Amino acid sequence: LRVTFTPLQHDSGKRGGIIAVVADVTEQQQMEHQRREFVANVSHELRTPLTTIKSYVEALLDGAVEEKELSNRFLRVTMSETERMIRLVNDLLQLSRFDSQGVRLHCKEVDMNQMLRYAVDRFSMFGEQQEVALDLEIPEALPSVYIDPDAINQVLDNLLSNAIKYTPQSGRVVVHAQHLRQQERVQISITDTGIGIPSRDLKRIFERFYRVDKARSRGQGGTGLGLAIARELVQAHGADIEIASEWNVGTTVTFWVPSFRGGSAG
Ligand code: ADP
Repeated sequence: LRVTFTPLQHDSGKRGGIIAVVADVTEQQQMEHQRREFVANVSHELRTPLTTIKSYVEALLDGAVEEKELSNRFLRVTMSETERMIRLVNDLLQLSRFDSQGVRLHCKEVDMNQMLRYAVDRFSMFGEQQEVALDLEIPEALPSVYIDPDAINQVLDNLLSNAIKYTPQSGRVVVHAQHLRQQERVQISITDTGIGIPSRDLKRIFERFYRVDKARSRGQGGTGLGLAIARELVQAHGADIEIASEWNVGTTVTFWVPSFRGGSAG
């Protein structure tokens, strides 16, 4: 608490009491703390790939460039770290836009069934590469939904890429959808048989840059911002997103979107 005292003075010059202002600054301090932590995180996240790139380029200049195979490998690392840095900056720009302007949605009636099929199709190759089976379990008669398709596609991309990334070979990822008629919502969940998330990390997993294993995330090309962005996008629809997980067993991320009621968001 911060307390400030201001003495009151009458026109005549006589003193007439004191105003005490008691302000709760804990929230302010917390925000300031979060801001500093965020800036430190951003700097660190940018420095890490830059340091890697620098050392590989140095090695190339020191002579590795003469060896074809070695230089090929070094250039590939440089390329993938550059790509990750671009993803990181794009994710940061998107979050900063959300912070300054709010999330702008362009909602319309969308066929969820088709949207989920397309999302799974987009990831079929990645799934095959990682030897993770990708299945769709959705009822034929799923109602259309009222959403911003670009936003929800991004949510699906982030969640599907996580599910595949964090699932070892011969695992399985299932996309499940269900109409909750009474709630006028459609529930979508993505379940994997992957490495899972320890329960102590679950509470904070949607925070920006919060990761269970930073090295593993970076190794997979991650930015640590995918879940934070997904949550912003889902919440902008007035909806929720939840995660349930068990270490070494698997993870389920569930979110809800409003079903279409002929022109209103429901
Ligand atoms: P990242 O780019 O690191 O994947 P995200 O914000 O998408 O960033 O996820 C944050 C962290 O949550 C990940 O680093 C990982 O530790 C954990 N995580 C997310 N999805 C899963 C999943 N399906 N299985 C296991 N861990 C996950």
